[in-house]
Amino acid sequence: METRYQYALPDDPLQAQSAVEEAADIIRTGGLVIFPTETVYGLGANALFEDAAAKIYAAKGRPADNPLIVHVAHPKDAEGFAHTTPLYYRLAEAFMPGPLTVILAAKDNLPRTVTAGLDTVAVRCPSHPVAAALIEASGVPIAAPSANLSGSPSPTNALHAKDDMWGRVDMILDGGECLCGVESTIVKPEEDGSLLLLRPGSVTKEALETRLGVTVRVAPAVLGQLKEGEKVLSPGMKYRHYAPKAQFILLDGTAESRIKFLAEQKNNKIAYLCYDEEGEALSALPVKLLFIGKEQDTQAQAQVLFRILRDTDKEGFDVIYAPLPKTEGLGLALYNRMIRAAAHQIISL
Ligand code: AMP
Ligand code: MG
Repeated sequence: METRYQYALPDDPLQAQSAVEEAADIIRTGGLVIFPTETVYGLGANALFEDAAAKIYAAKGRPADNPLIVHVAHPKDAEGFAHTTPLYYRLAEAFMPGPLTVILAAKDNLPRTVTAGLDTVAVRCPSHPVAAALIEASGVPIAAPSANLSGSPSPTNALHAKDDMWGRVDMILDGGECLCGVESTIVKPEEDGSLLLLRPGSVTKEALETRLGVTVRVAPAVLGQLKEGEKVLSPGMKYRHYAPKAQFILLDGTAESRIKFLAEQKNNKIAYLCYDEEGEALSALPVKLLFIGKEQDTQAQAQVLFRILRDTDKEGFDVIYAPLPKTEGLGLALYNRMIRAAAHQIISL
């Protein structure tokens, strides 16, 4: 199909508005639009259309058992297709609009193609002005996964989405670089009032606990490999994801042990995701250094991780090494994405 590419940048509000209106028409009439959000780019369709999910799955090459997130302009709009709860509204009050997705029971009018057959639905209210304007102008909830081909890193700018999806969607709205750079945090309210963290993101476990005073349990799949036969609560977690073409291996150790390890490697097509502070000690090695920010600046690292993983595919490395992130704060999201990109290959130093 023919794909239209339109800019929706803050420096040209009139152009942005007409692009958003055109995109909203496409959504209303059953087409596919790639749009920016504060997390990553989404691939959207009218969530209330029976065929929407099938079109999205086909465009992404995604297995149909991986449910989509439904995006709303205002938290209360979830009432149209989901059973909201007091805890949902407390979460909305604290973190919406923003990078948080909440699992709710789905109402009967929501096509089960969107939820991949589940009786629950993932709801998110994005804060990105273009995403918010698009949903508002469409007048319908928008079902959207990340706008990448299944298995590759989520796109954090429109050109990455274009690389994967050109000719597969009706329109790409270019709203610049995504701020968060990793997908939304997903939580599932439990019967006992606690939250189960299904996917870590920019709304951290610590922030959820502090702001709401609730217990947040981390789903086992976030931190490790699923055991054989184990039930997958968030179906997306069972796939190898974000994987670069080169082997991607995580190094679990101190800065000194990582430097020593890299110095011992003989293969000359090595890249290393490098904290800024490590650059000087590594500069003499025949290793391509890919800087991901200061060690403590997890925000900066999250913003560039997927872009760096994508860019490595153009350079033909044999192996890419990276430090294993700590699991506190936003580090948990980095850890989760990186162990999956590495298909759980971790070397203990
Ligand atoms: P993406 O938008 O590409 O990041 O993918 C959507 C994510 O939301 C996937 O990891 C899904 O497994 C997860 N998800 C969507 N709906 C549900 C649901 N009803 N229960 C649990 N996880 C869900
Ligand atoms: Mg995705």
